[in-house]
Amino acid sequence: MMGDRDYRQTISSAINAITKEMEQQISDPHDNKMIFLHEVVRCMRRSYFDRFDKIETQGKAADLLGGLIRKLSYGSKMGEFAIEDIKLKGQADMIVDDIVIVFRMSFELPQTPFASDVLYLNSCMWLFNKTDGVIIYITHDGTDSSFSVMREKKMFEETIRRVRVFSNLIGEKKAPIVEPSQECTSCQYYERCYIKKQEGKQFSLAELFGVKK
Ligand code: SF4
Repeated sequence: MMGDRDYRQTISSAINAITKEMEQQISDPHDNKMIFLHEVVRCMRRSYFDRFDKIETQGKAADLLGGLIRKLSYGSKMGEFAIEDIKLKGQADMIVDDIVIVFRMSFELPQTPFASDVLYLNSCMWLFNKTDGVIIYITHDGTDSSFSVMREKKMFEETIRRVRVFSNLIGEKKAPIVEPSQECTSCQYYERCYIKKQEGKQFSLAELFGVKK
């Protein structure tokens, strides 16, 4: 007997509380000399809004998985890499036998790893001075697949370029440009990027093309 309690709401609140506690906290959003890896391997405009004008989203099981694994004592570490006076910080879910491992939840197992995950893992390898990494995708029904990735310099140079751009934009208080991608469809800032409120008179298609009624 479940009674009158809204258990769905209770579970969702628990996930939110746990994921919040585990989030990598950005103590000072104006600090453009401290950049987190997760901010630059995805849409930087989204990361900018998260710093300065955040719209909260519901915690997802996917966030929870990474958070819980990072809480375990299997070797999760925060790494740091200096780019002139900027510190780039990133966290590996596990480091086992010199191999950097990150876990990702996915609705279905991908044929190839997602670009942002490869960028993240590759950067982690530079942060921890390792040459091998693995991305493990896990679905909600418990199946998994993994992809090995070798450290690659050109790709890390692209991350560094993005870190510099993001740092400058924070310093100048300018939101990064729109980066259209698949990520937009599930982004909480979609309306800020793509849908402008229409002011004034509305035109019908018939009026625009001069079609007489
Ligand atoms: S809608 Fe797309 S471009 Fe806009 S912030 Fe979100 S991910 Fe970035």
